[in-house]
Amino acid sequence: MEFSSKLLEKAVYEMSQLPGIGKRTALRLVLHLLRQPKTQTEHLVMALGTLRNEIKFCQNCHSISDVNICDICSNPNRVRDMICIVEDIRDVMAIESTGQYRGLYHVLGGKISPMDGIGPQNLNISSLIEKVKSGEVKELIFALSATMEGDTTNFYIYKQLEGVEIKTSTIARGIGVNDELEYADEITLGRSIVNRIPFENALKNS
Ligand SMILES: [Zn+2]
Repeated sequence: MEFSSKLLEKAVYEMSQLPGIGKRTALRLVLHLLRQPKTQTEHLVMALGTLRNEIKFCQNCHSISDVNICDICSNPNRVRDMICIVEDIRDVMAIESTGQYRGLYHVLGGKISPMDGIGPQNLNISSLIEKVKSGEVKELIFALSATMEGDTTNFYIYKQLEGVEIKTSTIARGIGVNDELEYADEITLGRSIVNRIPFENALKNS
């Protein structure tokens, strides 16, 4: 792509670093911003800059938050001894949108994936094990995607908790194998939480 302006080229390059944005789309977005009032670009830049500088991770569930303890964890109406284990905040948002879950979450920040060099020590697993061993949790719901990495992660956590008296369940697989949680529609996902099954049964089936 030939540019008549270095400034334009630089802006298009930066935009094209985003996932799913090729050079052509990047150019279209940048030209769009140029046609809009200057304030629109300023608001965008400010929102992203503030987000990046001020965002926190909840000290309890590791979800993205504006404050040290997120709105879900600090909500007195949530069931505090039930924890749903998810990969990232998109899963929290997907499950919240079903309106079917009143417990808390624990965000792992990914899945165990030796191929990508991600081991248990790279994820928020030890804080989960500690939380469970402290006795404040009655039920753990595994809600990772039904991929090999998801299953490996579930099983690793399950093994870490051997000997601990706790109810473990996994969301029912109305969600197909290899489906990512965030793509499940709200009704299917809601149903799979309500109809969750004991984790041991899920192990026998796989
Ligand atoms: Zn939280």
